[in-house]
Amino acid sequence: MLFRRFLTVVLVASTSFTIAGGAQSEPVSNPTKDDLVFVKIDINAIGPTKLANLKRTIIHRLSIEADMDLILLTTKTEAAKHAEKFLVLDIEPKEDQLFVIQKAHEDVLESLEGETIAKAGRSAVVQAKSPYLKQLTWHPAVSKLEASIVLARQLANDDIRGVTKFSQDTSNIVEAVNGQRWQETLGHLATMNRFSRGPGIQNAQRYLEQTLSSLPAMHVSTQAFTMGATTAYNVIGKLTGTTRPDDWIIIGAHYDSISQSTTTSAPGAEDNASGTAGMLELARIFAETRPEATIFFIGFSGEEQGLKGSYAHVAKLIAEGNKGKVKAVFTMDMIGYTSDTDLDCLLESDRRGSALFPMLTAAAQQYTNLRIVTTLNPFGSDHVPYIEEGIPSLLVIENDWNSYPPYHKTGDTPDNITLAMGEQTLRMQAAAVAQISGAKFTVK
Ligand SMILES: [Zn+2]
Repeated sequence: MLFRRFLTVVLVASTSFTIAGGAQSEPVSNPTKDDLVFVKIDINAIGPTKLANLKRTIIHRLSIEADMDLILLTTKTEAAKHAEKFLVLDIEPKEDQLFVIQKAHEDVLESLEGETIAKAGRSAVVQAKSPYLKQLTWHPAVSKLEASIVLARQLANDDIRGVTKFSQDTSNIVEAVNGQRWQETLGHLATMNRFSRGPGIQNAQRYLEQTLSSLPAMHVSTQAFTMGATTAYNVIGKLTGTTRPDDWIIIGAHYDSISQSTTTSAPGAEDNASGTAGMLELARIFAETRPEATIFFIGFSGEEQGLKGSYAHVAKLIAEGNKGKVKAVFTMDMIGYTSDTDLDCLLESDRRGSALFPMLTAAAQQYTNLRIVTTLNPFGSDHVPYIEEGIPSLLVIENDWNSYPPYHKTGDTPDNITLAMGEQTLRMQAAAVAQISGAKFTVK
């Protein structure tokens, strides 16, 4: 009785229009499907205030922000009102057929029987042309688009405030990054077939162990884990901090690779000799310093089989009671390719890990000419196992990866790599780690 008396029904209009900006905007009532249209607005470097204003003043059902483009699902009437701002997309909207695809490489998008509405960072929004996509929603990389979304946002349109003032010690460490040495290491790794289940990966494992062991004060160990019938190994270098040894910073990259024909070759120059060589380059530099905090340099295996190495490492942290010590995890996966002169670099994390964005973006602005893009849609790389445990973790990846032609192919060779792309990324990364760890070069 009592319950029934107080029972109230709240009707939520799930398809209501976004109307903000108060008096100047009026909701469009009951638009028919024929009324709707996708429009694209160029938002490159318009700044956070103008971007917010656009979203507020133009009536729309859905907004999709994608780096340089803002896509709105709006009405033809509204589009006509702002015609000078819009490019109308030649795609008939089907609102119930929109899907978000994670890790949306061009090869994947082509296979999906859909039209790409927007793509940025490592995600895309696709409108299905057949029932195929809907049948794929069991897959973790495919989900229905339920609300407005930011696929990726460029730094120029963000209100991230990179107010960090870097020390002279940090500047010295940044200047020690050697792009040539990074590229040579990458080239050497790419001569090895590093398929996780193949015999060649042992050579890469030994190379990582030897390289890290040759560095002063570096304590090197391996972590074995199983992948079905295969035993794989993470290689872990530890540089113990002087005054804050229980503040842990992790720099990680997967050293395994894959291709369409792993018995032939799997050079994985970009994916991910580039990140592995980056991890080793930073290890070489920081081994000459005295960091206040402890820094780990980790080569993960089994990434291509489902992040097996990083999951194993997180399990080890938990089992040994060390999870709480980890203050920041920086993973690098594909840092050396660019498809054009725009050196764009993506930082990918969740809300917690995005606390690391200001440090990295400030570093990028002070020490590089990278164009930074950020996203809060973390997916499918070694940052994810840490994120799932609430550890601040992010992925650094070049922003053109989705158009890298030999991705996961035998053609992923060192001639596709641009030295400046890797070098700039490592300068940014070195600055952030130097600052957080309080590293200083030792007097020689
Ligand atoms: Zn990778």
